[in-house]
Amino acid sequence: MRAFGHIDAGSVRQAVDAAGTAGAQTAFIAGGTDLLGSLKDNILRAYPKTVINLKTIADLDFIREEGGALVIGALAKVQDVADSALVQEKAACLAQAAAKVSSPAIRRMGTFGGTVCQRHRCWYFRSPENRFDCLRKGGDTCFALTGDARYHSIFGGEDGCIAVSPQDVAPALVALGATFRTDRRDIAAADFFKVNGERSCALEDGEVLTQVSVPVAAKSAFSKFALRKSIDFAIVNCAVAQTEAGTRVVLGGIAPSPLRSLEAEAAVVGGISEESAKRAGEAAVATASPLPANAYKVPIASAVVARTLRALI
Ligand SMILES: Cc1cc2nc3c(=O)[nH]c(=O)nc-3n(C[C@H](O)[C@H](O)[C@H](O)COP(=O)(O)OP(=O)(O)OC[C@H]3O[C@@H](n4cnc5c(N)ncnc54)[C@H](O)[C@@H]3O)c2cc1C
Repeated sequence: MRAFGHIDAGSVRQAVDAAGTAGAQTAFIAGGTDLLGSLKDNILRAYPKTVINLKTIADLDFIREEGGALVIGALAKVQDVADSALVQEKAACLAQAAAKVSSPAIRRMGTFGGTVCQRHRCWYFRSPENRFDCLRKGGDTCFALTGDARYHSIFGGEDGCIAVSPQDVAPALVALGATFRTDRRDIAAADFFKVNGERSCALEDGEVLTQVSVPVAAKSAFSKFALRKSIDFAIVNCAVAQTEAGTRVVLGGIAPSPLRSLEAEAAVVGGISEESAKRAGEAAVATASPLPANAYKVPIASAVVARTLRALI
């Protein structure tokens, strides 16, 4: 770990001002469960000169209902989102997804803002001491394409990068149509989880996420398939939500960003049944283009979609 300065921010404005124009030379820290590992392994192109602590900002750890939507502060703990009776009642898939994040210790340390901003988990991107100057770091090669891609995208790349979206809560937030508020703008969930250079979200340097607003869904469900049950990132996860606009089906772990499957949604327009759920699963992967190393994910994704939809019958 290299030396860096440390500032405790007393407010969102102070955090933004402290980052100022030094943007890339600063990093925000919340629970630190992702950021500190990145700094220990030195995976980022620019090592921050200053780390700005957000946990010292008061009143950003709320979970409440406002104007018919759930609103979750960026500093709410992942475990608190999982345990919240309000989230369980109004946005079941989000509570279920939060409960599947990592381990109890990381859920109690990690914040909601941190889990949605966590960086992708490609082993070339995260290789210690920046051994691979990959596409996301400004290089011209996606090393996974010719290397070990067993956990990578089965739907091609975003700007060529085939690392997958790692979050469990992301598909739930896209399915529910959440909106992300920062110190300067609102961002729709579908636009938030985009590959953005070294980042895995749309935030710019020095931009602070303050809260996420989540429309209430009549019925919703989340499932995750991982190799280990105790603590592991998803091979495939899926969230489905029934909104006024119909049933939304969103997958994670199989594409660079959460993937909304319009094909799966079309299969359940007439209602969700055992049969239509199975058809939706097949439709969700009909256009998949896996590599030999990750073709095993295709039938798993199909089964996970069908299983998640069946939970709504
Ligand atoms: C061993 C391990 C297993 C894991 N397994 C899973 C898993 O199964 N599923 C899953 O979904 N996740 C998993 N994770 C990721 C975990 O969810 C995150 O590490 C954690 O939630 C991040 O929260 P944090 O508060 O510690 O964020 P930090 O580490 O403090 O920050 C993470 C990133 O977000 C930025 N950031 C944080 N808050 C804000 C904000 N308010 N505004 C702007 N930027 C911000 C930071 O600058 C940093 O880049 C795992 C992590 C580990 C270490």
